[in-house]
Amino acid sequence: MNNNIVVAIDGYSSCGKSTLAKALAKELHFIYVDSGAMYRAVTLYFLRHNIDFTNHAQVADALHNIHLNFKTHNHKTFITLNEEDVSEEIRQMHVADKVSPVSAIKEVRVAMVRQQQRMGRSKNIIMDGRDIGTVVFPDAQVKLFMTADPKIRAERRYKELLPTNPNITLEEVFDNLAHRDYQDTTRQESPLIRAQDAIILDNTDLSQDEQLLFALSHIEPFITE
Ligand code: C5P
Repeated sequence: MNNNIVVAIDGYSSCGKSTLAKALAKELHFIYVDSGAMYRAVTLYFLRHNIDFTNHAQVADALHNIHLNFKTHNHKTFITLNEEDVSEEIRQMHVADKVSPVSAIKEVRVAMVRQQQRMGRSKNIIMDGRDIGTVVFPDAQVKLFMTADPKIRAERRYKELLPTNPNITLEEVFDNLAHRDYQDTTRQESPLIRAQDAIILDNTDLSQDEQLLFALSHIEPFITE
């Protein structure tokens, strides 16, 4: 099997990008990288250390002290920030509220993109995010651009968050998604846009199995024995 197939999945917040990416990685035995988790972990570090997002020297200094890694244990992937497993904490609202301004900072993007490109070298990889098909891997063999009805997206994310955040409201989740979409699509540095050669996947009315089959049909032609 060839060993440098890149599948880039971009799209709006809570469209199910990571659900699809994980299912594809499992099916195809590819490596999965959740690039959003990296921006979330950087945000968590900035919050913990009271980094002033507008202060370039502070941001650059902080980036030198941030070491991110993905580890797998019992078939589950988690992200470490300076060796601490932060996979749960980066999903909380205090991080979600600040991740878009942090990921709009040029220095942050340069550092993350460099690491992401290194991860994709000589491997079969599936990476999801906002700029994977446009900036990180513009030559990816398969690019998917995911979208879904904003209300459906908010309901899905709300159900996911509720067990660990019993006080959360659907409105709060909806507002956070809308706000992040707005910031992600209008920022100056690598805004979220569909790569011209990306295939649109609207999963508003699709089951997880249906979207998996749709994506597989576009990837399988690139897999040779
Ligand atoms: O994918 P997820 O929702 O976890 O991403 C969190 C945030 O990280 C996004 O709202 C976006 O601001 C940022 N992000 C980005 N570029 C990526 C992945 C995520 O700017 N490649």
